[in-house]
Amino acid sequence: MSASDRGTTRHQIPGASTNLPRWPADPPPIDERGASFLVITVGTDTQAAETAERWLARIAELRRPCERLSAARAEDIVPAVAHAIDTAFVGLRVLVTGPERDVLMIRSAVLAAGAVSAEVCCHAAPPGGHEPRAMNIWCVACRRQNAGVTAHLTTCRHCGAALAVHAHFSPRYAARLGAVSAPPNMP
Ligand SMILES: [Zn+2]
Repeated sequence: MSASDRGTTRHQIPGASTNLPRWPADPPPIDERGASFLVITVGTDTQAAETAERWLARIAELRRPCERLSAARAEDIVPAVAHAIDTAFVGLRVLVTGPERDVLMIRSAVLAAGAVSAEVCCHAAPPGGHEPRAMNIWCVACRRQNAGVTAHLTTCRHCGAALAVHAHFSPRYAARLGAVSAPPNMP
């Protein structure tokens, strides 16, 4: 490890103090009790594509009905996901793979649409050693989301408040909390 690597590590929140999900190296198996499946892939990551293929192969073996949705970013697909859950019959299992930020956003949308967590299976590729972990940050000052933040200290793009990114992760908002470290600029 070089001196600059150590400098970067020091500013990151230790894993032990956060409730962010930890992803196993291998994607989880599908819940074979599912009567039908919805497989959602976000982004162009090859690992996510392989995960989706593995799930789809098993669903095909089981001869269960399966729908697929894919998009470049979670934001592009949230309405379609909500509609699919809304119109689903009992026994649907939802499988989501892609970058962590997107997977967590889709999971939040699936739960908001009425699914329970046992019906959703998610897998994100663990971020690489030098890759910053991009998360959505929920600003407590203006109650809006800042997408894809990688820094521990950031400025809210909506209200200009200086935010300290809290270690706590909210599954409901699919975001970490941004506590105000300086008041927003007043007009
Ligand atoms: Zn704000």
